[in-house]
Amino acid sequence: CGIVGYIGKRDVAPLLLEGLQRLEYRGYDSAGIVVTSPKAAGLKMVKAKGRVRDLEARVPKRFAGTTGIAHTRWATHGAPSDVNAHPHLDPENKVAVVHNGIVDNAAELRAKLEAEGVVFASETDTEVITHLIARSQADSLEEKVREALKHIEGTYGIAVMHADFNDRIVVARNGSPVVLGIGEKEMFVASDVAALVTHTRQVVTLDDGEMATLKADDFRTYTTSGASTNATPETVEWEA
Ligand code: GLU
Repeated sequence: CGIVGYIGKRDVAPLLLEGLQRLEYRGYDSAGIVVTSPKAAGLKMVKAKGRVRDLEARVPKRFAGTTGIAHTRWATHGAPSDVNAHPHLDPENKVAVVHNGIVDNAAELRAKLEAEGVVFASETDTEVITHLIARSQADSLEEKVREALKHIEGTYGIAVMHADFNDRIVVARNGSPVVLGIGEKEMFVASDVAALVTHTRQVVTLDDGEMATLKADDFRTYTTSGASTNATPETVEWEA
């Protein structure tokens, strides 16, 4: 339902929780957040059924990070619960995915992955995306995501983090909105500009079939087949 992400120098958890609150008007049944930082070993995640403030209450005092993605979920596959809330991590806690939309062939992909020995943690359609990325043998995160998305039928706006590639967030869009917010040595992503405009008015709206890599001081856009799309930021008008 709602996605917010950030990479930069600021303490990311309060920033993302505030962003989620700006998306509350869309309705949701659960929420979650995952963070890391260039120096951190691995990903830290908290999820909660209920409101953003229920999630906030669970976030530990020390939850430092400068890169993170967060989500408010409107369940389509699997009941609203802590476990089914996004982000969805692989068993090694390397890959984290938040997803808006519906994977139409999730049941088929899940059966195939389970036959290969993959153990699912949730009942969501989204989790197949996590496992496909985690199992990709490709060298770069971009290529891992691209390979995974080749198998996906349906709609998605996704944001992906990987513990071994923690200098970036990779995002992709097909049928669910993804907007990048371009800042000064910091980058934002959201499913709705409402979550960005307090931080930057410079935005890039992804097209269907488009992906992007966000680093703290740089971004690039390209198609799901890898061709550069050189998107230039536009200034959004917004009444505060
Ligand atoms: N289909 C996914 C789920 O049920 C994402 C739903 C959403 O867009 O929030 O978990």
